[in-house]
Amino acid sequence: MSGIDAQRFRRIATEEAWAPSDMIRRYRGLISENKVDDPGFRSLMGYFLFNESPVTKGVVERLQDAGERRIADMDATGIAKQIIGITSPGVQIFDADTATRLSVEYNDELAEACRRYPDRLYPLAAIAPQDPKHAAAELERAVTRLGMKGAIVNSHTHGEYLDDERFWDIFAAAEALDVPVYIHPQTPPKSMIAPFLDRGLDSAVYGFGVETGLHMLRLIVSGVFDRFPKLSVVVGHLGEGIPFWLYRVDFFHARIVKTKRYEKVKPLELTPSEYMRRNFHVTSSGMPWAPAILYVRQVLGADRVMYAMDYPYQYVPEEVEAMDALPISDDEKVEFYETNATRVFKLG
Ligand code: MN
Repeated sequence: MSGIDAQRFRRIATEEAWAPSDMIRRYRGLISENKVDDPGFRSLMGYFLFNESPVTKGVVERLQDAGERRIADMDATGIAKQIIGITSPGVQIFDADTATRLSVEYNDELAEACRRYPDRLYPLAAIAPQDPKHAAAELERAVTRLGMKGAIVNSHTHGEYLDDERFWDIFAAAEALDVPVYIHPQTPPKSMIAPFLDRGLDSAVYGFGVETGLHMLRLIVSGVFDRFPKLSVVVGHLGEGIPFWLYRVDFFHARIVKTKRYEKVKPLELTPSEYMRRNFHVTSSGMPWAPAILYVRQVLGADRVMYAMDYPYQYVPEEVEAMDALPISDDEKVEFYETNATRVFKLG
C-alpha cells in the first residue's frame, strides 16, 4: 500500500458491507436446501458461499469481521472510518417473521461491534420492509437506542419496491428521525433477471445498477419526495447510472405527465432531476473512475458525492491512490472524502 499517505485525508468509506455469521449460515442453508425461489440470490450467494477460490473465500471471511481484521484493512488503505451496512440482500430474502426478528438481532450485534471502535465504525440499521410498521419502529430503536446512522435497504424485497405506499412508514420514520436511507443494490428480481443471468450480467457487473436505478426512478415518479420533502436517500455506484439519464428522464417524464399517458403517473412538484439534487446523495462505491466522478459532481453538485470503497467486495488498495489523484483541489477532496459524509450521516 506504499502509494497511500494514510495521514493526508480523513477518508470515510460510506458503503462498506458486513454479514452476521448467523446470516451466512442461513444463506448456505437456503441455497443447499433449495428453499428460496430467487434466481438472483442463488446466482450471487451461490457463488460467494460455494465457490472455492481464494477471492470469494477472502470476501466471505472479511464480510463477517467487524473487528480487528477490518480495522487492519482500513489502516492498510488509509481509511479512517467506515459506514457499515448489512450485505445484500440482508434480511430481505427471508419470510416476514424471520426477517423482522433477525433485523433486531443483527442490529444489536453490529451496534455492539461498532461500539468497540467508536471513532472508526458507524453502523446502518438493517430493516425488514416485509413488515413496514416494524421496520419503522426498528429504525427508530436503532437510531435512538443503538446510535445507528440511518437505514440500509438492499433494494427490492421479493420483487416489491419501496414506492408502494404500504412501505411509506419507513420513509416517515427516516424523515422524522432525520437520518438517511441507503438504497443498496441487489440482483434483479425473478420477474426481471432472465436476460441478465444467461450472460452473467445479473450482479455488480451491471444488473445491480439497472435494478437499483429503476428503484430510484420508481421512488421519484411515485411522489415519495412530495410526501416526504426532507427524506434523504443515499445510493452507491455514482447514482446507478441515473445521473447520466437526467435530461432524457426529465424530458419524457414531463411529456408523459402532460399527455396523461399513464393513469398512475401524476404531476410532481419538481422535475426528476430536481429531486436527485434535493433528496439524493451518491457514493463512489465500486466506481473509482475520475471522469465519472467529475461528471456526477458536475450534474448533482459537489456536496452530493461521497467516497466509498465497497469493502470487502472491491477491496482494491490502488483505488485509494486513484482517488487521491482526482483532478480536484485538496479542499474538494476533503469534501469528497470526509465532510459530505460527516454531514449526511451526522458523524460525531
Ligand atoms: Mn456495496
